[in-house]
Amino acid sequence: MRTGITLKQAMPGQTPNSLLGLTLQELTSLALESGQPAYRGQQLFDAVYRQRMERLDEISTLPLEYRTRLGEQGWRVRMPTVERKFISSDGTVRYLIGLADGETVETVWMPEGDGGESGDGSEAGEESEAGAPSRPVAWGRATICVSSQVGCAVNCKFCFTALLGVKRNLEAGEIVGQIAAVLRDQGVEPPLQRVNIVFMGMGEPFLNYENFMKSVRLLTEGVGIPESRMTVSTAGIVPRIYDFGRETVRPKLAISLNGSNDALRSEVMPLNRKWNLAELMKAAREFPLRARERLTFEYVVLAGVNDAPEQAREVVELVRGMRAKVNLIALNPGTELPYRTPQQERVLAFQKILVGAGIPTFVRRPRGRDIFAACGQLKRTVEV
Ligand code: SAH
Repeated sequence: MRTGITLKQAMPGQTPNSLLGLTLQELTSLALESGQPAYRGQQLFDAVYRQRMERLDEISTLPLEYRTRLGEQGWRVRMPTVERKFISSDGTVRYLIGLADGETVETVWMPEGDGGESGDGSEAGEESEAGAPSRPVAWGRATICVSSQVGCAVNCKFCFTALLGVKRNLEAGEIVGQIAAVLRDQGVEPPLQRVNIVFMGMGEPFLNYENFMKSVRLLTEGVGIPESRMTVSTAGIVPRIYDFGRETVRPKLAISLNGSNDALRSEVMPLNRKWNLAELMKAAREFPLRARERLTFEYVVLAGVNDAPEQAREVVELVRGMRAKVNLIALNPGTELPYRTPQQERVLAFQKILVGAGIPTFVRRPRGRDIFAACGQLKRTVEV
């Protein structure tokens, strides 16, 4: 058991003896410590991330003796399990995913993306398909919305997940594991089939920064999903926005704005008292965008609260001159929330003001509302 202990000490918080979540380097050390050749690390890495095998005995590239040895040492793949699955009339699927310690999180599969706005940050039809590998014609694209924490600590007043409080951070393997479990269930194989990832499920990714970034690296290097197809959304953890801008491999950035001035934003997102709009927008303006990249601002529209023309004009002033777009999301309602969903005309009038000022602005269509899978509705529940 020396191997397990050594690795556990090296990675505090890691679920004991979980292969899912280890990097190629860590898997290589694991193999070497058992006297195996270094290339067994690569074989393990491929089996876990590219082939997404659930059990050691499926990994037929490894000698039986070594598989048995790993098993005896307590090592498992530890793929999260699909506990429940809810299918919406619009094709969206909400998964309740079970973790090793009995906790659950929610992961959402959106077969046609999510309207082209947040999945890969491109508008429908904007991206050229030239050079893309051939794939079945029927395949468009899908987006997986993944959770980063069990619950959430941020306490946004319009969000269901906030009602849970935060239980714990997810490990990198548990973040990647949600995606692996969903890809397995859907029978989808990246990179041949195009999949977008949005870190917009339960939790605040920038309050679990290291594990979130490790999952990004495992997804790009192991699963084969390029970071250009990933978007992370933050409620506005300003110091982490600066850190994130310094990463060499990183998803695109979305910022939840949701209020057009400090008083309003502090009311709906108490986090604004810690990092106000001036600090947030400074970080956003200084964020080093890549060629052709744009920032996204998300704005949850709350009837009679933040949907007035005057507030749209305040948003214009905040975003003016930035390489950014705005996604308007009408509140996905819930009985426990103190807000109402705006009329469509209100949202369109708000959009018109932004577009008129030259800011690309999109109205996101809700996905999976009937199964409580839409933005802000994820709540670690089976009550539907
Ligand atoms: N913690 C991160 C990511 C999770 S929330 C963040 O705050 O960005 C993902 C998006 O859903 C955010 O833009 C958030 O503002 C939005 N959202 C939360 N509750 C919502 C609701 N009830 N209706 C519509 N959008 C909601």
